Amino acid sequence: MIATCRDYELTLRHTFRIARSATDLAENVLVTVEHGGLTGIGEAHPNDYHGEDHHRVHSALDFFCHWLSAHPELAEPLQSISNQQSAISNLLNSLPPEVKSILGAVGALDIAFHDLVGQRLGKPLWELFGADPAKAPVTSFTIGIAPVPVMQEKVREAERYPLLKIKVGTGRDLEILEGIRAVTDKPLRVDANAAWTVEEAIRNIRAIEPFGIEFIEQPIPPGDPDGLRRVRQAVATPIIVDESVTASGDIPPLAGAADGINIKLMKCGGLHEARRMIELARSLGLKVMLGCFIESSVAITAAAHLSPLVDYADLDGHLLITNDPYDGVALDPHGRLILPHRPGLGLLPRA
Ligand code: MG
Repeated sequence: MIATCRDYELTLRHTFRIARSATDLAENVLVTVEHGGLTGIGEAHPNDYHGEDHHRVHSALDFFCHWLSAHPELAEPLQSISNQQSAISNLLNSLPPEVKSILGAVGALDIAFHDLVGQRLGKPLWELFGADPAKAPVTSFTIGIAPVPVMQEKVREAERYPLLKIKVGTGRDLEILEGIRAVTDKPLRVDANAAWTVEEAIRNIRAIEPFGIEFIEQPIPPGDPDGLRRVRQAVATPIIVDESVTASGDIPPLAGAADGINIKLMKCGGLHEARRMIELARSLGLKVMLGCFIESSVAITAAAHLSPLVDYADLDGHLLITNDPYDGVALDPHGRLILPHRPGLGLLPRA
C-alpha cells in the first residue's frame, strides 16, 4: 500500500461566522491510499476546537505516508474478502502515536481505508454498514452569523434547502430569530456553539422557543453535564450536544443531560468510531445527529453513508464551498441525501 497526502484549500462562498470564530477558507488535507490496483480517498479538516490545526494534521498524515512505506505488511489483511471491518479496525489500532493522537488525520485515513475496502468488495459503504439509502435523512443548511439583513439574504439564497440551522450566541439572538422568521417558515435548528452560561441558555432558549425551534445545539460550554441537565429541564426544546462529545467515552455522562449528540468524523476519528458511537448513543436513549466542518464531498459523502442510521443530518460543508474537487452524495429536491450506489465512497472527480 502506498499513501500520499496533499493540502487542499476549500474556498467558502461567504465568510462563515459562528459564536467564537470566522473563516473564509478551510485548509484541509486529502489523502489517497493505493493498494491492489485500487485507490481510496480520505479527507481531514483540522478541528481547532479540540486543539488541531492544519500543520499538525498535515504533519501526522505526512508521517503516516513515510511510516507506511516501512510497514507494507500492515495493509495485507485489507486484501482478504472476509472480515474487512476488523482489518480496518486493526490497521487503525496499529497506527503510530504521532498519527493516532491527531483525530483529523485518523479520520482521513479511516475514510480512505473504508473507500478502499468498499471498492475491493464492489459495494457502496452504506451496504457494508447495513444501512438503507431510502432512509437517508434531509440535511439542514447552515446560516452563519452576520448582520440580520445579510442573514435574511442568505436564507433567501438557501431557497432550495428545506431545513435551516441558524448560528447564534451573539447578544442579539432574539433579533436574529425575529429577522429569520420574518423571511421563512421553514423548520429551524439553532446552534449556540457553547456561547451561553446556564442561566443565559435558559433565558435565551425560552425567549426564542415561540419561533418554533426543532432543537438547540450546544447551549453551554462542554464539561458541565449537570448544567446541561438544568437547561434541559427548564426548557421545552430538545438539546443536542456537539462540542461536549468527541468519541464514545464522552457519551455515558450525557444520558439524561441531553436529548442527543452530534457526531462528526473529524472529531471522533472516522467511520469506525462513529458507528460505535451511534450504537452506544442509541443504547442510552440518545438521539443521533451527523454533523460536519467545512469539508469537501470526500468527508461529507463518507458521513452520508452512515446517515440512514441516524435521526438528523447536518451535512452541508460541501454546499458552502466553491471548489469541491469531487461529486459524491447529492440532494433530492426535498433536501434528502441521495447516496452513491458506486462501490466504496462512490466519488467521481470533477472536471
Ligand atoms: Mg455545532
